[in-house]
Amino acid sequence: MKKIIHVVGARPNFMKAAPVFFAIRDRGIFEQVLVHTGQHYDEKMSDIFFRQLGIPKPDINLEVGSASHAVMTANIMIQFEQVVLSEKPDLLLVYGDVNSTIACAMVAAKLGVKVAHVEAGLRSFDRAMPEELNRMLTDSISDIYFTTSRDADELLLKIGAAPEQIHFVGNGMIDTLVRLLPEAQKPEELDVLPGGYALVTLHRPSNVDDPDIFPKIWEKLVQLSKEIPVIFPVHPRSRQRMMEMGLVLDGVTLCEPLGYLEFLWLQQNAKLVLTDSGGVQEETTYMQVPCLTLRKNTERPVTVTEGTNILIGRDFNLLESSIRDILNDKAKPGRVPEKWDGDSGKRLAVILEELSVKEIF
Ligand code: UDP
Repeated sequence: MKKIIHVVGARPNFMKAAPVFFAIRDRGIFEQVLVHTGQHYDEKMSDIFFRQLGIPKPDINLEVGSASHAVMTANIMIQFEQVVLSEKPDLLLVYGDVNSTIACAMVAAKLGVKVAHVEAGLRSFDRAMPEELNRMLTDSISDIYFTTSRDADELLLKIGAAPEQIHFVGNGMIDTLVRLLPEAQKPEELDVLPGGYALVTLHRPSNVDDPDIFPKIWEKLVQLSKEIPVIFPVHPRSRQRMMEMGLVLDGVTLCEPLGYLEFLWLQQNAKLVLTDSGGVQEETTYMQVPCLTLRKNTERPVTVTEGTNILIGRDFNLLESSIRDILNDKAKPGRVPEKWDGDSGKRLAVILEELSVKEIF
């Protein structure tokens, strides 16, 4: 039986890997090894997702922890090389755009192991985003591409991928959402009513690392909280920056990062979501919840062209008018993109079986 290694490292990877792992397991076609790099490592950013999503304990945990980009990437590479040498996989599956994605793809490619990139072909065209560099580099050395949207297929063709390497399977993050939405649960610690609050997540360096920008966004959140309760589960890096910048959020409810089921409930029932997260843009599009993205660009353009997402960038007038529209029940309508239906993991597993039969890996 051929052996596949899955690499996960950070919060958004868990939702994407789970449906692929389960679909392969259900077909019984390959031996699977789950490697966690430990890029995110604590209860709130990692462990809770394994429990809530039902993902088995990783077979191998590299426990790299927090570090600068270079140190983290290098540490993952050093340790993952030993994993590949001892496990001798036939294929590596990497997900999304985190440091673990490129670090492990690079190691496997240099050892002659085929690499499949899940969520390939996304581009924000903003190289100031560390994730954009990870996406570009991972795509440039992958052998097999699984995509979430047709624009990603087009991008991959433009950068020289062959059509037979590209497989439009749909969105794995939405598979997890479809499976677990019936189990979404209201966070006990928050006193909120469905439709009666705005939900905020912010953690991109372009928003939270910039001492000119973060306080301005802060001011807007405080203003918004005078009209509607604002709930902000704070990512660890944003918490750190808030402390460094001495930001005080009068009126806004801050909490720790939430579990998946609790956060899903909050998204589904929010009047509006303000975010810079990639995954949250997609999940709100699926649930048709109004989403305002505090970024100048998005690597997930279908959330704007088809979904409920509006790119706000730094245009605070647009932010105000969009909030006004939503509060007046005139939110931008949206539809669910093609193949965002809960079955992308199954499609992916079938394709892997076919590729294996053809000896592509
Ligand atoms: N998420 C969560 N709890 C939170 C915030 C986000 O479970 O407090 C989930 C969210 O539903 C989505 C994923 O985390 O599935 C998005 O991860 P993140 O925003 O960290 O990464 P990005 O998508 O921006 O790469």
